[in-house]
Amino acid sequence: MELTVIGSGDAFGSGGRLQTCFHVTTANKEFLIDCGATALIGFHKLGRDPNRVGTIFISHLHGDHFSGLVWWLLHALHVSGRTEPLDIVGPEGTAERYAVVAEALFPGSTRREPRHRLTWHELKEGQVTTVNDISVKPYPVCHPSGAPSYALRILADGKSIGFSGDTEWVEALTDVAADADLYISECFGFDEPSCCHMNWRVIEQNLDRLTSRRIMLTHMSPVMLANRDKVRNPRVIIAEDGLTLDV
Ligand SMILES: [Zn+2]
Ligand SMILES: [Zn+2]
Repeated sequence: MELTVIGSGDAFGSGGRLQTCFHVTTANKEFLIDCGATALIGFHKLGRDPNRVGTIFISHLHGDHFSGLVWWLLHALHVSGRTEPLDIVGPEGTAERYAVVAEALFPGSTRREPRHRLTWHELKEGQVTTVNDISVKPYPVCHPSGAPSYALRILADGKSIGFSGDTEWVEALTDVAADADLYISECFGFDEPSCCHMNWRVIEQNLDRLTSRRIMLTHMSPVMLANRDKVRNPRVIIAEDGLTLDV
């Protein structure tokens, strides 16, 4: 299984990075973890085909994590003429929030029926949802977004990926990361406290309890980006747009 960082930025484009999106490919399927506003741009930049992505998982309903669905689905409708089915898996209310955003940005865009099957799936706290042979378990986190915000634990082809989503430190993150092949953690700050997000010092204090094989830091503020060379741990990787990892 391979994971490519499409976007490793925060909501503000810090460091010129695209917003949160990870592209995972296995022997026979492709999926996204989060779909920030710039997801389609990042895909085109890497010469990838959006129609090959069969499933999109969304951690929470902030624009830098889910609003890229607007352009993703417009592209499928008007540009690529997508016929491949697409499943979107997100917190309660994802389809409704998508419709509000899409109609605000491109009025009338949700009234045209796509040529492909489009299915929305709602995550339920603590329950495993399986879609296209990929299972996901959502863990509630501390990050207000007008709907439940989740960390995700994803299992596909016998490999496990944990993703913190956006959040302050919560104890459940140790379960999300437990023995995972890869744990992706937001790391907004370096040592400065910030509301609803973590910083490197908090993650560092809990490193021994985050038992994944590797940890990748993402969603970094300008201060964290300026200090990223101070992160020195063989298990910890700093995300970069375009970086591909074997999971
Ligand atoms: Zn964010
Ligand atoms: Zn957020």
